Amino acid sequence: MKWANKGNEFARYRHALDGRTNIYLYGAGILGLEVAEILERCAAWLPWNASFVDNDPEKLAAGRVASLPVIAHAALARVDRRKSFVVVCGRESNMVWMIEALDVMGFEFGKNVFTHDFFALKLLPLYFFRHHNMVYFSSLSTLPTTRCNLNCRGCLNFNPYLRTHATYDIAAMRDSLDALFGVVDLIFRFQITGGEPFLYPGLGDLANLIGENYAERIVKFEVVTNGTVLPTDEMCATFKNNKVRVILDDYRNSLEGHDGRYREILERLLDRGVSVQENRVDAWFDLAPETTDHSACRPEQLETRFDRCGCPYASLENKRISSCNYAWYACKAGLVEYIPGEYFDLTGVTDESRAELVEFRMGFSEKGYVEFCKRCAGYRRINHGVIDVAVQMPRKRNEHGGEEGKPPR
Ligand code: SF4
Ligand code: SF4
Repeated sequence: MKWANKGNEFARYRHALDGRTNIYLYGAGILGLEVAEILERCAAWLPWNASFVDNDPEKLAAGRVASLPVIAHAALARVDRRKSFVVVCGRESNMVWMIEALDVMGFEFGKNVFTHDFFALKLLPLYFFRHHNMVYFSSLSTLPTTRCNLNCRGCLNFNPYLRTHATYDIAAMRDSLDALFGVVDLIFRFQITGGEPFLYPGLGDLANLIGENYAERIVKFEVVTNGTVLPTDEMCATFKNNKVRVILDDYRNSLEGHDGRYREILERLLDRGVSVQENRVDAWFDLAPETTDHSACRPEQLETRFDRCGCPYASLENKRISSCNYAWYACKAGLVEYIPGEYFDLTGVTDESRAELVEFRMGFSEKGYVEFCKRCAGYRRINHGVIDVAVQMPRKRNEHGGEEGKPPR
């Protein structure tokens, strides 16, 4: 979105949740559970009584899903619509009929009905800012190193394109984190990613640094690993002490002979008391920079594309946050030029410009899109192209003698 009224965007939603005491999560599936987790873990700031709405007979018979009660769709007809709002937690394909069904009952989209991503990515940050004077981010990641022992064809960090790697020392990481938490009050999910973070020699120090200084500003603190590098005992101890959850990517279907190593990593983490979430997916979505070309689009079309894409992720690096994390990775990989306006400098934030930071994280910028939108197939909402998980490419030597090279076009 292009800034039209900087620091004052979304004025029409500023009071949207005022006076409302009940929130209904329409759909008790994966998306509903994600929103329920936000409500539960941020309960200190969010005052609503929450329930699921779902017609699944098993869920209704159980009476609860996770920690929330479940009511049937028909029961919504009896709720006080002035004091309630509904968050539609359905997939894109179901969204229209769900909103229409609510409309028939007298609810109004944009007034007391919102989609789950609009609620999580826009309304909640607005609510935190307006009611608690807090800068809240739904998520943010940071990369201490781009180095990786794998070279995946569909890497969303564009590792196969990197000509040189960046590794930040702990002092540089501290500077960025201090700048971030000097202006951001709460981040729901904060991830250390890569590259492969287990290859970063200062990972234990980094986890300690964050845990000791900023634990109260982070609801979920995670490290994402590719499941092929054994963590040291020191790393495991710092993960446990700082309540870091390890997201363990499972690439065993693609990486022959890695089953033993994966099990060894999992056992070591669990033995040392580290919280682990195994992550196996059937396919990756494909940003397809080699075959995507929207360079003929007008700026207004690119703006629309950026908005429809709705990529929810951003990264922290060098005391700046990115508008779209994939655009930043593409920039580092040399796929697009560095454009200063696509990043928010955290060092110059004043009381007056805090609202602009909130808006930037919601997707606002001077231009309304990022250059990489011209070469990117987009995030899941607009992109159904997939690529096999973790298919390895041969590494090439580049002209500087480094080990990585650009794949042939
Ligand atoms: S494991 Fe693969 S996808 Fe992950 S950073 Fe390394 S090359 Fe990229
Ligand atoms: S189209 Fe690609 S570059 Fe543009 S916002 Fe979406 S993910 Fe980012």
